Amino acid sequence: MVATLIVAMLCVHLLCFALMFWLISRRLQGGRMGVDALALGNALLGLAYVLQLAAGPAGWSAASVASHTLTLCVPLVYWVGGMRFFGHPGPLLRPLLAWALVATAAQVLVQWGLGSVARYAMLSFTMALIFLAMAVAAVRLLGGPARDLRVEMALVALLAGMLGVLNVVKGVRVLDGGLAALDMGQRFQVAFYIYMSFLATVLAPLMIWLVLRRLTDALRASAERDPLTGLLNRRGLLAALHGHWKARDAAPLRLLLLDIDHFKHINDSHGHKVGDTVLCRVAEVLARSLRTGDLASRIGGEEFVVVCPGGDRAGVRAAAERLRSAIERVQIALEHGHGPLGCTVTIGISPLLHGPQAFDAALQQADAALYRGKAGGRNRVEWGDAAPGVRVPAPELAAAG
Ligand code: GH3
Ligand code: MG
Ligand code: MG
Repeated sequence: MVATLIVAMLCVHLLCFALMFWLISRRLQGGRMGVDALALGNALLGLAYVLQLAAGPAGWSAASVASHTLTLCVPLVYWVGGMRFFGHPGPLLRPLLAWALVATAAQVLVQWGLGSVARYAMLSFTMALIFLAMAVAAVRLLGGPARDLRVEMALVALLAGMLGVLNVVKGVRVLDGGLAALDMGQRFQVAFYIYMSFLATVLAPLMIWLVLRRLTDALRASAERDPLTGLLNRRGLLAALHGHWKARDAAPLRLLLLDIDHFKHINDSHGHKVGDTVLCRVAEVLARSLRTGDLASRIGGEEFVVVCPGGDRAGVRAAAERLRSAIERVQIALEHGHGPLGCTVTIGISPLLHGPQAFDAALQQADAALYRGKAGGRNRVEWGDAAPGVRVPAPELAAAG
C-alpha cells in the first residue's frame, strides 16, 4: 500500500516536471540544451508508472509490457538530453522508436520462452546496466566537457550508480524469489520507490540549476564580448584584468591603444558595411598576432586595446610594431572587383601598470601617446612615457580601385 502510494505520487511528480521542462524548453527556443528531451523522459517515466499501477500485481499483461518498454526508453531519452546539454545534438525520435520496438520484441520473446520472472529480471538487469553505464559516462565527462560542473556531474554519477546497484539487487531478488519479490508490500519495494521518489525530487532542481548555470554563463560571456568582432569589449577587458590582478604574483602590464587611421573616410567612401569588414579584419589580425598571455579587446568604435603582461620594454615595442605592420599588410577585396582596400593603425603604449587602480590613468596616457602619433603622421607606435617613440614611414590609406 505504501509503495503504491509512493508510485502514485511519483507519477504526479514526474508528469508535473515533464510539463515544466517542456514549457522551459519552449522558452529556450533554438538552444534547448536537452531540456526538451528531459521533458519527454519524465513524461515517459510518469506514463510507465501509470501503466504499472493500471496493470496491478506483477505478471503478464499488455499494460506491463508497455510499462517496461517505456521504462527502458527513458534512459535513452535522458542520454540524448545529456548529449544535447553538452552541445552534441543528436536525433531522438527514430532511435527511440527503434529501441522501443527492440524492447517490446525482446519482452515478448523472453515472456514466451522463459516466462514472467525472466521478463521482470531482464528489465531490472537491463536498467542496472544502463544506469551503471550512465554513471561511468558522467565520471568520464568530469575530465572533459563537464570540467566546470564537477560537483553536479559527480552527484549525477552517484545517483545513477546507486540506481544501477538497486536494480541489480532487484533483479537478483526476482530471480531468487520470483514475482513475489515485486509485491508492493515488500520492504525492498518500498525502499526502491522511496529512492526513485528521492531521485525525481533531487534531479529536477539539479537539471534546472545546470541549465541556469549554462544560461547565465552564456549571458555573461555575451555581455563581455563585442558582437561584431568577437573580441572582448570594455566590460570583458575589465573583467579579465580583474582576474589578472587577483593573482598574488600578477605581472605588471602595458596597454596598447590602437586606433584605425582615417576610419571615417573608409566609412564615408565605401559605406558602413565595408567599415565593419575592416573592423573584423583588424580584430582577426590582432587575435592571430597576439603572444601567449596577451589579450585583445575592442573598447569602442575603431579603438582596440591590447594588454601585454611583463615589463620587457623592447618586447612590448616589438609586439606593437608587429601588430602595426601586420595590419598594414591587410588587403580587403571590395565588391564588383574594386579594391583591395588597406588600412593602418596608430598605436599608443601606456606606461607600466602595476595594479587595477592605475587603469584609467594608463589608458589616458596611451591615448595621449596615440594623439601624438596621429599628429605625427599616423601609422606609427608612440610611447606614453618618456622614451622615444618608434617612427615608421608616413601614413598610407591604401584604397586602390
Ligand atoms: P583618425 O585617423 O584621426 O583616427 O580619424 P578617424 O576617421 O579614424 O577618426 P574618427 O573618430 O573621426 O572616426 C571614427 C569613425 O568610426 C566614426 C564612426 O562613424 C565610425 N564607427 C564607430 N563605430 C563603428 C562601427 O561599429 N562600424 C563602422 N562601420 N563604423 C564605426
Ligand atoms: Mg577613434
Ligand atoms: Mg581613427
